[in-house]
Amino acid sequence: MNTCKLCGLNKVTPLIIPHDKRIYNYCPDCYLIFVDSTFHIDLQQEKRLILRRNNSIGNAEYVHYISQIIQLIRPFIYQGQIGLDYGCGPTPTLNHLLKKENITCFNNDYNFGFNHPFKKYDFIMAIECLEKFKDPNNEIDKLLDLLKPGGIFGMMTEVYPTKDNFKYWNKKLDPSHVSFYHQKTLDYLIANKKLTLLKSDSKRIFIFEKQ
Ligand SMILES: [Zn+2]
Repeated sequence: MNTCKLCGLNKVTPLIIPHDKRIYNYCPDCYLIFVDSTFHIDLQQEKRLILRRNNSIGNAEYVHYISQIIQLIRPFIYQGQIGLDYGCGPTPTLNHLLKKENITCFNNDYNFGFNHPFKKYDFIMAIECLEKFKDPNNEIDKLLDLLKPGGIFGMMTEVYPTKDNFKYWNKKLDPSHVSFYHQKTLDYLIANKKLTLLKSDSKRIFIFEKQ
């Protein structure tokens, strides 16, 4: 029996989707849907997939896309603060955009050789990063541990609409995406990870404060 990778419940149910090679598990408690580990791709495959995308400062569409989270987090972060782009990928972009606002943001992505220099940050942003977490409970704890108390955590990860609609949801098609979150999963994080929701678009951008 699989246990939930977020809340540890041992009553997750397999979610079989016709014409989908991967097997998913659904947690009726925190609503996390996670891919069975036998279908996880290795690090090299994951890096190849990420390198194929052109998520960089030179891509106007991508810049416009991530500007949405800057808009929502901006009232809660200030000049002089130090932030971290968690899982920044091979061509970090957020740091350039925040620099225009005189805000310092360091990059962190061990897969691409970016190591963060500080122990604690005023804010952390994670853009389309949590869906890649193979062990979300530990990885979310690790991320939040880098944040000062009262610090701001901005996440950009689309939540799935309903368990029934999940089979039609295209976000699950990316082989590097292995953890999927519902609005109720975020409620679980709020209740169990000492977070307060400050702002969201109710779809893919959520700004939290660490208590
Ligand atoms: Zn769970």
